Amino acid sequence: MKKIIVAALLLAAIGCSRAPITGRSQLLLVGRDEVLQQSYIQYDKVIEENKVLDNPDSAMVKRVGGKIARAVEEFLNSQPEYAHLDDDFQWEFNLLESEQVNAWCMPGGKVAFYTGILPYTRDEEGLAVVMGHEIAHAIADHGRERMSQELLKQYGGSTLAQVFETNAVEGAELFMEAYGAGSSLVTLKYSRDHEKEADKLGLIFMALAGYDPNEAVDFWERMAADKDGEPLEFFSTHPNSATRIQLIRDYIVSDEFKKYTN
Ligand SMILES: [Zn+2]
Repeated sequence: MKKIIVAALLLAAIGCSRAPITGRSQLLLVGRDEVLQQSYIQYDKVIEENKVLDNPDSAMVKRVGGKIARAVEEFLNSQPEYAHLDDDFQWEFNLLESEQVNAWCMPGGKVAFYTGILPYTRDEEGLAVVMGHEIAHAIADHGRERMSQELLKQYGGSTLAQVFETNAVEGAELFMEAYGAGSSLVTLKYSRDHEKEADKLGLIFMALAGYDPNEAVDFWERMAADKDGEPLEFFSTHPNSATRIQLIRDYIVSDEFKKYTN
């Protein structure tokens, strides 16, 4: 009962928010400052524990990231209704040596790509598809939403701080999982709604950065073609739906897309 009251109070204090573009209402029980602070701590840990590459591929990750970061900030500043999403960005883009087919972005613009995804992104445009999509998950606060849901489901409405206090390792795992950066076998899937939003925003971001959004169709087709092969981490966190590619095709020619990219 006490926990329900705590959850209700939290809800009143932090409350519901709306996702960008789709206007879908979001339950956010974790504070923005709290996740930003955690993001910087957890990202530094990942960087410490992995082999960070310094080569032409990592230069490409940084180049694409920098271009899309500028586009994102410009987009948020140009849309008064999204000004509240303007994080205290401390962008960082790193390429880590790992066979995992994965990439993610944590709040405040902390991005990691694993070398395992490079055969699928292939070139700079393909990389921009994934970069735009991952940054979009972060901008739309999907991680904070997922964490809120898990706190209710698994922790009876405890706060993130309480989970960290009780068990720091578990707290870190919950945090990483929420951003698609977890290493445990049971990964949290982004929901269909989250995927749709990340696709839409990601397409806008990559187009604003000067990349061809049609490349997204090719990228997801390449991923889909390989889906039946080895299990891809990227697929376990970003479930592909048969309708995704058609949605992307339709969105690129929609009025909404043109409104934001013209
Ligand atoms: Zn996704």
